[in-house]
Amino acid sequence: MSRIFSGIQPSGDLHIGNYLGAVKNWVALQGRFESLICIVDYHAITVAYEPQVLRDRTRDMAISLLASGIDPERAVLFVQSAVAEHTELAWIFNTLTPLGELERQTQFKDKSSRQESIPVGLLTYPVLQAADILLYKADLVPVGEDQLQHLELSREVARKWNARFSPDAPFFPEPKAEVTKTPRVMGLDGGAKMSKSLGNTVGLLEEPAAIWEKLKPAVTDPARVRRTDPGTPEVCNIYHLHKAFSPPETVQHVAAQCSTAGWGCIECKKVLFESMTKELTPIRERAAAIRADPATVKAVLRAGADKARAIARVTMREVKERMGFDP
Ligand code: ADP
Repeated sequence: MSRIFSGIQPSGDLHIGNYLGAVKNWVALQGRFESLICIVDYHAITVAYEPQVLRDRTRDMAISLLASGIDPERAVLFVQSAVAEHTELAWIFNTLTPLGELERQTQFKDKSSRQESIPVGLLTYPVLQAADILLYKADLVPVGEDQLQHLELSREVARKWNARFSPDAPFFPEPKAEVTKTPRVMGLDGGAKMSKSLGNTVGLLEEPAAIWEKLKPAVTDPARVRRTDPGTPEVCNIYHLHKAFSPPETVQHVAAQCSTAGWGCIECKKVLFESMTKELTPIRERAAAIRADPATVKAVLRAGADKARAIARVTMREVKERMGFDP
């Protein structure tokens, strides 16, 4: 069976961008593939953070993932820092990765421009990511579009390590990306992609009233100034969210109403709100039930880390052997 690895930072609440771009795919693929889903807490400390907040967010992320449908019977759910081999392999990959490659990464350029003093960890973030994936020899990595450049770097690291230490038969597979039909969900402010660090998100577990307050002022087709102006659905973020949350017949109806000015944007948003509520309410209710049982969440993460560590140790033993270390 092919193996999947994917990760998510506990740097804030799980939002609908994460859900539509990645998590929904993890849920769909678990069982069909051997799946490892990792809460990447070491990645989250590459920007300023508070220890207690990190602890809470790590637990909350586990709750949100379980509520979204990650099933511990069919997927290994664990926290990165519980498996020391991630950082061990990352160090090894650091010695193979050219500085220039890392400086070229869009996410590094973007995040470092927002910091006065740039930690080296922000630069080497994609190297740790390569270690996360290759440690499990994953074939497939279901991610959003923003991760494609990092994944290409993981493939290069695999190629480089294989060429140097396993030239006859590749030891590490070159992992392939798997994206959803919504690989890049935009923020409600109409600017950048939806991201935990940008505060332009709709949280997966937010109360309906809070979601509606965010939808009401959300940016739509900028050319639609008056209520009577016909809109262009394809340029409207709300329409794209309809495509993700509403049934196909509703999407068609929305497009027709928008392009003929039959509906104003607020009517269109009301229908989207109904579709979102329908999908998100059961997730929110499941999360409340899971939150009430913290011992089970801890046990799931501990069992997940044990399973992940068993795989990681086998990989590291062979990596060290081939590199001239006494395993
Ligand atoms: P964030 O950018 O919110 O901090 P992460 O870096 O933890 O999210 O990414 C977790 C997963 O969610 C990754 O696979 C990433 O590609 C995906 N993802 C994040 N934001 C979006 C988005 N706006 N649209 C689609 N996928 C996204």
